[in-house]
Amino acid sequence: MTILPEDTRQFSPQALDEGRKLFAGACDFMLGVAALGQLPDADFPEIAFAGRSNVGKSSFVNALTGRKTLAKTSNTPGRTQQLNYFNLGDALYLVDMPGYGYAKVSKTQVAAWTQLIRDYLRGRPNLRCCFIMIDARHGLKDSDREIMEMLDVAGVSYRIIFTKADKVKDQELAKMRGSVEAELKKHAAAFPYIHVTSAHKDIGLDEARAIMAAMAGV
Ligand code: GDP
Repeated sequence: MTILPEDTRQFSPQALDEGRKLFAGACDFMLGVAALGQLPDADFPEIAFAGRSNVGKSSFVNALTGRKTLAKTSNTPGRTQQLNYFNLGDALYLVDMPGYGYAKVSKTQVAAWTQLIRDYLRGRPNLRCCFIMIDARHGLKDSDREIMEMLDVAGVSYRIIFTKADKVKDQELAKMRGSVEAELKKHAAAFPYIHVTSAHKDIGLDEARAIMAAMAGV
């Protein structure tokens, strides 16, 4: 697996260490937010995770924290349509957004979800970044583009994380990366480089922790 230079340039040993330290601490489920009035006070910076159902979002966050909390919480009936809040070491909130692009969800549910997300993204002052998880084999789908546009409009910075990089050959990965990065250039609020990961093969996880620690300001 080749990690291209822009992935490694920004990661000093110290930055990687800060990331590891942050994620070695407690990470507890706090609450599920179904309506904006339930949002916790903006006490800490926060990072949101978005992605199509099955993209590997739970596996990624569980691998980062070394815990199974996220998968368990997010798949609890009733919690799948909420913003699930986790407190990482009293330093950062991790917000698991509902997975989208799932065919079995009704139009009414999609509309309710879209409204909640739109309002959340527009009005959350401590939201540092939204990570949009994309399957390295499949690239961007229209439902991903919709959320990217929402983020552009809301002026919230976002970064693309490729998941399941262990499933693609280097050459395919480079090609997919090139085409998605070309598209990112057209989006005002997007970070121009993709961060490549595999939760199963521990690729890019230390670097992801370092990115988040920098955002938490630790
Ligand atoms: P979520 O719906 O986005 O939370 O997705 P999950 O984390 O539940 O993962 C969906 C499926 O993808 C599961 O079968 C995982 O085992 C698989 N998966 C997740 N991450 C990886 C990865 O890094 N590599 C591979 N090969 N499979 C993965």
